[in-house]
Amino acid sequence: MANNNRILLCLAHMSGQEMKYIQEAFDTNWVVPLGPNVNGFEQDLEQLCGEGKYVVALSSGTAAIHLALVNLGVGRDDEVICQSMTFSASANPVVYQGGVPVFVDSEPDSWNIDPNLLEEAIKDRIAKTGRKPKAIIPVYLYGMPARIDDIMEIARRYEIPVVEDSAEAFGSRYRGQLCGTFGDFGIMSFNGNKMITTSGGGALICPDEATKKKTMFYATQSREPMPYYLHKEIGYNYRMSNICAGIGRGQMTVLDEHLAHHKHLCGRYVELFAGVDGITVHTNPDERCDANYWLNTILVDPVKTGTDYDTIRLHLESCNIESRPLWKPMHTQPVFSGAPAYVNGVSEKLFTMGLCLPSGPWVSDEDVERVAREIISCCK
Ligand SMILES: *Cc1c(COP(=O)(O)O)cnc(C)c1O
Repeated sequence: MANNNRILLCLAHMSGQEMKYIQEAFDTNWVVPLGPNVNGFEQDLEQLCGEGKYVVALSSGTAAIHLALVNLGVGRDDEVICQSMTFSASANPVVYQGGVPVFVDSEPDSWNIDPNLLEEAIKDRIAKTGRKPKAIIPVYLYGMPARIDDIMEIARRYEIPVVEDSAEAFGSRYRGQLCGTFGDFGIMSFNGNKMITTSGGGALICPDEATKKKTMFYATQSREPMPYYLHKEIGYNYRMSNICAGIGRGQMTVLDEHLAHHKHLCGRYVELFAGVDGITVHTNPDERCDANYWLNTILVDPVKTGTDYDTIRLHLESCNIESRPLWKPMHTQPVFSGAPAYVNGVSEKLFTMGLCLPSGPWVSDEDVERVAREIISCCK
């Protein structure tokens, strides 16, 4: 009998160390949104970042993007440039602040924001509104580094702050430097399906200690240092709990293993599809990029394969294998239909060709072979 166990995209995987940190939290009664695990997890993350960065552990990656925008003073009717091809969480916080997202399309190598189109958009917004966008949010889709040197050069020239959405790129590097540490701010996500998890959580990478302190202040209801509750600014309840941070500390002990496994699976997919005309595995476009391969993705050429991504998806589902179409670009989402957009066709084309494949710590070599075999069976 063939093995027909369900193969999932990316399921959380515990190291075994998590319970030790959680038990400590219970034993010492630190069952609150602060405590030794929160401080310890932040230290782990700061060590990973290097570059003199400071990190604040928060309740989600979305909260981290929101507080980056609060720090940057994004307010009513302010425009913020955002990569169009992404998860809605990249753009939603712009609207929480009463701002307007301006979407910019991708370039075909990294699938991330196109630097040329970015500059075009900045110039056009200045010409149309007389004001510069307040921030730029590039994304590292599926863990693939964006062309961050070019993006930072443009951002510096126009003096616009950058918030790197590194939610999917935990551990990815560009020229050896961790993604999320190039811009004014970077964000991390520890949701259940990301590279590592805290069951739900995120972090904001800050440029200096003062910004870290201010972010902690915003994340704990903007309470002034007084014996009674005094508030001069609007606050948020966004701090990470000491229990979740305990899971994060345990997860950090196996980060290197997880990274190695995701990259190993990418290598297997590349080998298995090497002889298949019309199936392309998305890999590092050049030697500066070192993707974490959070989710391995393929493009399906309908002419060369005689099939398409959605037929393959349905076939995989019938074989008990999870796969998923790529992110549907934000400029095509009904909720953002009024937002300005600078498009070149790349993200819309990728959306009609691409598929995310099982890639997590639970996926074995045998599983990858089964996935590839079923995909190849769909091709002519
Ligand atoms: C997951 C994700 C987020 C949001 O992170 P949460 O922790 O789920 O709030 C933001 N941006 C991208 C690109 C993501 O994939």
